[in-house]
Amino acid sequence: MADPTTPLTMDTIVSLCRRRGFVFPSSEIYGGIGSTYDYGHYGVLTKNNIRSLWLRSMVQERDDIVALDSAIILNPRVWEVSGHVAGFTDPMVDCKFCKLRFRADRLEDAHCGQKPSRRPGEASDCDLTEPRQFNLMFETQVGALADGSSTAYLRPETAQGIFINFKNVAQLARRKPPFGIAQVGGKTFRNEITPGNFLFRLREFEQMEMEYFVPPDEADEWYRYWVDARRNWYLDLGLREENLRVREHAAEELSHYSSGTSDLEYQYPIGWQELEGIANRGDYDLTQHTNASGTKLEWVEQDGTRYTPHVIEPAVSIDRIMLAFLCDAYREEVVGDRERVVLSLHPLVAPVKAAILPLIAKDDGMATRARALYEELRRFHVVEHDEGGQIGRRYRRQDEIGTPWAFTVDEQTLSDETVTVRERDSLAQERLPISGVRAWLDDALAQDWRSPHSR
Ligand code: ATP
Repeated sequence: MADPTTPLTMDTIVSLCRRRGFVFPSSEIYGGIGSTYDYGHYGVLTKNNIRSLWLRSMVQERDDIVALDSAIILNPRVWEVSGHVAGFTDPMVDCKFCKLRFRADRLEDAHCGQKPSRRPGEASDCDLTEPRQFNLMFETQVGALADGSSTAYLRPETAQGIFINFKNVAQLARRKPPFGIAQVGGKTFRNEITPGNFLFRLREFEQMEMEYFVPPDEADEWYRYWVDARRNWYLDLGLREENLRVREHAAEELSHYSSGTSDLEYQYPIGWQELEGIANRGDYDLTQHTNASGTKLEWVEQDGTRYTPHVIEPAVSIDRIMLAFLCDAYREEVVGDRERVVLSLHPLVAPVKAAILPLIAKDDGMATRARALYEELRRFHVVEHDEGGQIGRRYRRQDEIGTPWAFTVDEQTLSDETVTVRERDSLAQERLPISGVRAWLDDALAQDWRSPHSR
């Protein structure tokens, strides 16, 4: 058991995810396929929670943003016009000695193929080529003919699917700028040169992007608004403030079309890294697609004035959010004379909201009551019924998957129809009437929550 002051390592999170069925290496029985993962039961539940919390704050709780789910394979012209075919590249170097490839602008994060492992270029044998540009888009063929005309791409971002639908949505959504289109529509694909660090850099990941269309003279104000709004979203979900920071890009770092970009950085076990990007993309995308398609992607005011809206974009992947939440929540501790691993996740993020545990599974009275309570609660929340093994072990299993509350049916339940509720972080216990558990849980889930690990 690690001392709580020992820095968390990525390996610890990888091993918890595997042990508890959050995430498995993909294609494992065939030796895996680099940096691709399959999400198990608790991983799927956690991802669903993150997705719906994002949609809730972006769409459900606002008047000005609508949802979209665009296709993964778009007309390849989209990617020519957006600049991705020519420019969605990272600089790559090869090492002629160890035959590995590295991203030239991230050498400090890479390991060369020699033992002991060093940074590429550090050992005297390293023989790095000059950097050359490598396009990150995955190509595929559409239709039965595999010639140049059938080449298409798996989308490397969801944003372009939003821009090309601007006119459809603007005509039908009965909204005027400032308004947004949000999309959580499945996977995004990037043939990353050096994927790695578990869920941080994947070749397929689930992006959530929102494009917010604003009058040009309001762009800077809205850009700042979205940087604050997105930062607050994480803090409201209990991410520790000391692990989150905003880093504004310097002028030389900005994309050619962007007049401002900020990264929300999280302190992962690999150091401070981009969790989410918020960019002021100006009118670049709508103008490009207007010029190339001949369809005017612009806004016309009632008095006939026309303009091309500017776009503010918060973009993030569910995978990087999940990794940040897991790292933030993980704690090994000794309670009394027992050791435990606990995931102090925000209850709304936690994959299972409550466990229902009969103290003695063989006791018919306890078993029947526990089962009935479970069947009542599962109509409204993801809950688990666990009757196997000693109660202490069952609690510890729930602690490791981050279940905020456990309701235990015991001897006293048989005489007074109350249960014990145990709180995951404080381990506090209280008794509740069994008939009031559902309302109690609804109320507990609606409360503000702060990480017990916050400074
Ligand atoms: P990086 O500099 O880390 O390569 P980026 O600046 O290219 O990232 P964006 O194009 O801004 O990333 O993508 C928006 C968001 O999508 C990122 O903030 C991150 O949350 C997520 N993302 C990007 N690439 C990956 C990846 N390979 N694996 C997981 N998530 C990713």
